[in-house]
Amino acid sequence: MSDTIVGIDLGTTNSEIAVVRDGRIEVITIENGVPMLPSVVGLGEDHALLVGAAARNQYVLHPERTIRSIKRRMGEATRLQLGDKQYSPPEISAMILLRLKKIAQAHLGAAVQRAVITVPAYFSDAQRQATREAGEIAGLEVVRIINEPTAAALAYGAHRRADAQAPAKVSRKSLVYDLGGGTFDVSVVNMEGDLVEVLASHGNNRLGGDDFDRCIVDFVLAHLARTDGIDAATAVASPIAMARLQRAAEAGKIALSERPYATLAEEFLFEKDGAPVHLSLEISRHEYEALIEPYITETMDAVHVALSGAKLTVSDLDEVLLVGGATRTPMVARLLEALTGIAPHGEINPDLCVAMGAAIQGQTIAGGASPMVLIDVTPYTFGTSSFGILDGREYPYCFVPLIRSNTPIPASRSDVFYTMYDNQVEVDVTVFQGEAPDALDNIEIGRFLVEGLREVPAGNPIVLDFSIDINGILQVRASEKKTGLQYAITIENAISRFEDGKLNEARGRIRAMFDDDTALPVDTDVDAKDDETQPDAGRLEHRRSIVEAEALIEKAERLLKTAGADDREDLIDNIEAVRDAMASDTAQADAELQKAMAALADVLYYLD
Ligand code: AMP
Repeated sequence: MSDTIVGIDLGTTNSEIAVVRDGRIEVITIENGVPMLPSVVGLGEDHALLVGAAARNQYVLHPERTIRSIKRRMGEATRLQLGDKQYSPPEISAMILLRLKKIAQAHLGAAVQRAVITVPAYFSDAQRQATREAGEIAGLEVVRIINEPTAAALAYGAHRRADAQAPAKVSRKSLVYDLGGGTFDVSVVNMEGDLVEVLASHGNNRLGGDDFDRCIVDFVLAHLARTDGIDAATAVASPIAMARLQRAAEAGKIALSERPYATLAEEFLFEKDGAPVHLSLEISRHEYEALIEPYITETMDAVHVALSGAKLTVSDLDEVLLVGGATRTPMVARLLEALTGIAPHGEINPDLCVAMGAAIQGQTIAGGASPMVLIDVTPYTFGTSSFGILDGREYPYCFVPLIRSNTPIPASRSDVFYTMYDNQVEVDVTVFQGEAPDALDNIEIGRFLVEGLREVPAGNPIVLDFSIDINGILQVRASEKKTGLQYAITIENAISRFEDGKLNEARGRIRAMFDDDTALPVDTDVDAKDDETQPDAGRLEHRRSIVEAEALIEKAERLLKTAGADDREDLIDNIEAVRDAMASDTAQADAELQKAMAALADVLYYLD
């Protein structure tokens, strides 16, 4: 076992250690089932050395005897005070490495002497040398220092080999987007056979998930100032209150990666005029994304810089890989996909993927066969449709993906949608499988009606939850946020529904149906480009009118219940006329529909 070469991701916020055993990659658990060691070193009350969670936990109370983010100081000729002694950055890093080494030895039941350690692609020679030195101080022979994006690409390469459906390609260009707690970097990596090369890298080593937490803390402070008249300085002056706020902010941020709303809560923050101030504040994903947008935009700009450094454009990329805990923020994948046109891969745990790649490299150096990374993922994207903008125009059937292909299962995601009309009491929820931005180009796999909503102005929030279990059973639940009223459906076998090209077959079948104009009304004729009779813009306009017409009919049908005999007849005739116009397929369809809607609206106006 002493031949084993471990892989170590010596990170700014957390560090991980992994090893290949019996052809499998194991990321070694540090404590309480967590495979990450906080990269924090400190001295406890009794001057005992603390490394990891214990040191991180005491930071707020005793910053003077705690050291965080030592990675940022590597390569500097400086010394840091810890208790009554001073240490160089490699010495502090060595304490982290030593802790990892001991844990690995206990796990493997054998001595660990050799390691591959990862560093950011932008690290200078001095920083790499300092890392090597840290390993040596910890009693490790550092057999290789590799770049973090290289390690991530190796882990995904091993995963791809395990995935029989993945196309074999001689050369692959990957964009590795790495957003951790305190650092961000993006690299363009070329993989040819076993050779992995970083072509260009860019980033900001002072940007990360910690900034997102700070945005939420500022949001809370602004709220406390507004509602409780608490001066931000009062909270900022109390390290304990700030630590609690920070804890609530991070928990809220993580919850918002899966849900459209989160409650920022702390039992007790501090005292004001002798009374305790507690925190309970809802934040929506929408509000949160507005707060962090400047940071995310900066990272997207960096993607352009890295690509131009590699003399490539987005169209040269084969894949986008997500690394670092903060890439779980849905906005990251969404904007990266909008920028590159490629759905990013996040199926390998983004916190662990670099250590896994380092372990693979270690195994190769030790002369063993490369392991494969096997992960259960959903091969399809699942989502719903809503009114939005498609190709620059308003469109009622924009596809909104909730669970994306390649997400490890089980998985659950939710998002919020809003009613479009005043007093809208029902919503039709359609579940689609596919990738096309036009939901009608995807496969409809389920549909249900949510009835009995409150009669309130448009904008009533409805939360949609999608969850898929390990057996591929998809559950979709819709709930009215204010009342908790719920409807749900279960779709058995969602992931094995359209295997082996059957998805395309099904898509073809459905499109053929839509091309048959006797089969369905005009609004479902999805392929606007093939259609000669109605221009694209007119067709979209018509679809929009249909949505409005449905709302008008709904209102008319409600009035039917109370209308007198003459008015009923009038209403029924006009509703029929609108329905006929909705189904019309002529070039004047929209004009006809507008006219019929105007007539019905007149009757409604008169009855109202
Ligand atoms: P890393 O440096 O790669 O360990 O990433 C740590 C950062 O990722 C911290 O800011 C975490 O709060 C953040 N993080 C971890 N999990 C999530 C999540 N589910 N959603 C958003 N951020 C997360």
